[in-house]
Amino acid sequence: MKIFIASLATETNTFSPLPTGYRTFEETLLRRDASRRPPAIGTAPVIEWRKAAEAEGHEVVESLSTFAQPAGTTIRSVYESFRDEILGDLQAALPVDMVLLFLHGAMVADGYDDCEGDVLARARAIVGPKVPIGCELDLHCHLTQQMVDAATAIVTYKEYPHVDTAARAREVYALCKAAGAGKTKPVSALYDCRMVNMWRTPVEPMRGFVDRMMALEGKDGILSVSFAHGFPWGDVADVGARMLVIADGDRAKAAQLAEKLGREIFSLREQTVTPHLDVDEAIDRALRIKNGLVVMADVADNAGGGAPSDSTFILKRLLERGVRDVASGCYWDPVAVRICKEAGVGASFDLRIGGKCGKASGDTVDLRVTVKAVSDALTQTGNNGGQIPLGEAVWVEGAGIDLVLNTLRGQTYAPDAFSNLGLDPTKRKIVVVKSTQHFHARFAPLAADVLYVSTAGAIPPDFANIPYTKKTVPFWPHVQNPFA
Ligand SMILES: [Zn+2]
Repeated sequence: MKIFIASLATETNTFSPLPTGYRTFEETLLRRDASRRPPAIGTAPVIEWRKAAEAEGHEVVESLSTFAQPAGTTIRSVYESFRDEILGDLQAALPVDMVLLFLHGAMVADGYDDCEGDVLARARAIVGPKVPIGCELDLHCHLTQQMVDAATAIVTYKEYPHVDTAARAREVYALCKAAGAGKTKPVSALYDCRMVNMWRTPVEPMRGFVDRMMALEGKDGILSVSFAHGFPWGDVADVGARMLVIADGDRAKAAQLAEKLGREIFSLREQTVTPHLDVDEAIDRALRIKNGLVVMADVADNAGGGAPSDSTFILKRLLERGVRDVASGCYWDPVAVRICKEAGVGASFDLRIGGKCGKASGDTVDLRVTVKAVSDALTQTGNNGGQIPLGEAVWVEGAGIDLVLNTLRGQTYAPDAFSNLGLDPTKRKIVVVKSTQHFHARFAPLAADVLYVSTAGAIPPDFANIPYTKKTVPFWPHVQNPFA
């Protein structure tokens, strides 16, 4: 068999002031060999697909792989050039026996509200109706009928934090292999759950729901079950949660189960809401905990959701209240990093930190700092084990608060974002991370408590009031009963 693989991904926050252009994709862009390299952001699926294909003696034709750090709408020509490069490679590789694509599912470009549906439909037109097209998506996707109609099998991640990208890739491979061999006839059904929310899967009742989904797969004619959580900050008609079921030849059965599971997750909506604290509530609660590390998640400034990662709402209150023994990162502030690197380790001076990208970044903070460490290329461990680059970075200390400032925008996944600079975050009372949930996999095991903090940052968890202009179907929590 000849198997074609490629990867084109970003999660578009259409409300973000930061455009997504070529430079952001270029930071991770690899051509023809991403699957042969050590794991990097967004490459786990192609690595798994090459491994599975070569283990069975198949030929792999690999196109490009790129994952742009989430930000605003992708520039039209940038999207079209990557799309056309992948499709051109596919055309040149014909005939192929299988197409496997890792796409995000929430990519929006100027003129394209459904980039993934566009890519999949064009790929289908190239290979014809018979060749299996498999697609893995982030669960934070706007799962559209166009995508489902074009693909043979779509599988989304099941876990948030996304610790299962490799496992889901193996399922996409197996589904397409069985379909290609004529052993199964995958038919998909999509159910609109009419909800906009974020769901954290390590905790109940989500943990049990995910486990029940997995237990349904591979028996009674059910091939795959995906709960696409949706990505709240995309102003597109299809924003929101969807249930996807793939059955073997029986579309009615797929539709029935998709609706049953969709209704079940809807019935759990109040129980699955993450409680958020305001900044002072979070500081009060952290100070009451006498033993152990308290991790505060600055969810509204998560670069992984398209936020700038330079907001100061929490930092400012910590300083005003004189809270010490705190580590916080990573602040995307190339100007401050430049100044600190110029001064060098040991230098003390007044530094202006953060608050630079717009209203959602808050006020700049002026702080007397000492430069404790500098790095030309800081990295941190991602949830699939690969190293995620954070660019040039510095550790500065001021007023009992240790800060990591960096030049390559990205959310905080792991304690080594701090410790690779020599700063041990576990030795502090409080660690503030700019992340919504991916931090949880590696920080929660170290923490006495994890607090989710809501600020006026770029992606506040206020799902009832996101100013959509294209969504026409009612949704919870904007209305209490969207099925009425
Ligand atoms: Zn995601």
